[in-house]
Amino acid sequence: MTTLLPNAHFTYTMWIDGHAASAKSGQTFSRESPAHGVKVGEYPLAGADDVDAAVAAARRAFDIGSWPHLPGAERAKVLLRAAELIRASKDEFALIETLESGKPIKQARDEMEWSAALWDYAAALCRHLHGDSYNTLGAQVLGLTIREPIGVLGMITPWNFPLLIISQKLPFALAAGCTCVVKPSELTPGTTLRLGELLAEAGLPTGVVNIISGYGEPAGARLSEHPDINMISFTGSTEVGKAVVGSSKSNLKKVELELGGKNPHIVFADADLEAALDAVVFGVCFNMGECCNSGSRLLVQRSIAQNFINRVIETARTIPVGDPLDEQIKIGAIIDGNQFQKILSYIDSGNRDGARLRLGGKALNRENGRFIEATIFDEVQPEMSIAKEEIFGPVLSILTFDTTEEAIRIANNTIYGLSAGVWTRDIDTAFTVSRSIRAGTIWINTFMDGYPELCFGGFNQSGLGRELGRFSIEEFTELKTVQVHLGPRTGWWARETPTMPGTV
Ligand code: NDP
Repeated sequence: MTTLLPNAHFTYTMWIDGHAASAKSGQTFSRESPAHGVKVGEYPLAGADDVDAAVAAARRAFDIGSWPHLPGAERAKVLLRAAELIRASKDEFALIETLESGKPIKQARDEMEWSAALWDYAAALCRHLHGDSYNTLGAQVLGLTIREPIGVLGMITPWNFPLLIISQKLPFALAAGCTCVVKPSELTPGTTLRLGELLAEAGLPTGVVNIISGYGEPAGARLSEHPDINMISFTGSTEVGKAVVGSSKSNLKKVELELGGKNPHIVFADADLEAALDAVVFGVCFNMGECCNSGSRLLVQRSIAQNFINRVIETARTIPVGDPLDEQIKIGAIIDGNQFQKILSYIDSGNRDGARLRLGGKALNRENGRFIEATIFDEVQPEMSIAKEEIFGPVLSILTFDTTEEAIRIANNTIYGLSAGVWTRDIDTAFTVSRSIRAGTIWINTFMDGYPELCFGGFNQSGLGRELGRFSIEEFTELKTVQVHLGPRTGWWARETPTMPGTV
């Protein structure tokens, strides 16, 4: 079955201070479907003045609004209602994301369910955020460490999982009592813009969430440097993440970053190879490989390498590529011309550097769309670009190893540290490897599963801070110490032994 391509494009507005808004300049920009080559969306083009208006609204909502002070139970009701509304909009949202991003529509529907589940989970956290108390400081002292919302957040998101990634941030920041300005990628702003009205319907007070659409420069950059923003939560490339850190210096705002990865997927000879096979192909083909968690490096133990690699190739060969509106398709279109050329140039570099191309390697000739077939290189050496750099496409680089130590060394030979997969039936090997790899998530005998309860983030240049799980809400808080003195206080001049000053 194939969903019909709509006859007309969608038109969107921004959401500022509780209202639908156009850009002050009146300018708009548009998006063409990467799979169909037709216009699918038109959006306001925010300038720095629109960002300023959105930040001012969020600042007011934080400084004099009710949201930061509401009981957790009240905030939870809004988030739960938002989750219901996301589920109710699932088909429309999935269509929007497939048209803008080229991802398979069946997968897009699943992503809407996963997104709603994050709002549900964050709702539960609203009622669990708490600090600490110290009843051990002496009879006259009670110490409290309380958590307060950090303030106004700027959130900047990429194009690969639009609603899912904003759902990893926004409900958690709202649960903590923060207010927000959100800027989605210019390539996929549709579902994020739709969230404004949806959240108002869920009961979110005016100004708590403001959503702008525009380019990284000037909109994203203005948000990152804005003096009235207390924290930036950014997901995107390592390169732009570093620029955001630079801009954040203006007022020393806190920065949380979810960046790129070059994730190793390690298969030992004793593994359940049938299960590993499926996971390896899924790991590199999911979302066309445009995935920060992509298992783009396969490290396979030499004794089983030849057979296992042959089977990976035969399986990957059968993955259907094409129109993402077709329910059967697993690999849709590549997001834009730049990314398309980038993937093809990595394929060229693999060929030039002497890796052996075993599958694919070509753009697929489809009318009006940009598609690349699943591509597999073996005989890849650790120093080759395709072994070290993030390609963000359906391209697998296969390396071999003999010993556990060698597998760990190759796995850690990267500037990144987002995630890794380990396949073995030996518990010693599984835990030795998972404790030795410098990455934020390790999957043992599975790959790319996720749960709202489990935190996510990167080591090294894959990021700063963590999203999801109970710790993520703490990222959006400031800790404050409150000391209470009980009974009469002895004056400074009268003390024989002065008490230690807390800080000087
Ligand atoms: P980019 O870094 O190019 O863009 C991310 C966001 O930043 C976009 O909204 C972009 O706007 C904006 N932006 C661009 N320039 C600036 C600037 N100077 N200041 C502030 N914001 C700016 O990433 P992509 O959208 O290309 O996404 C792909 C990258 O995201 C990959 O490297 C991937 O690994 C990473 N990623 C990481 C994830 C994680 O959780 N670790 C998850 C998903 C992706 P615009 O769209 O207008 O350019």
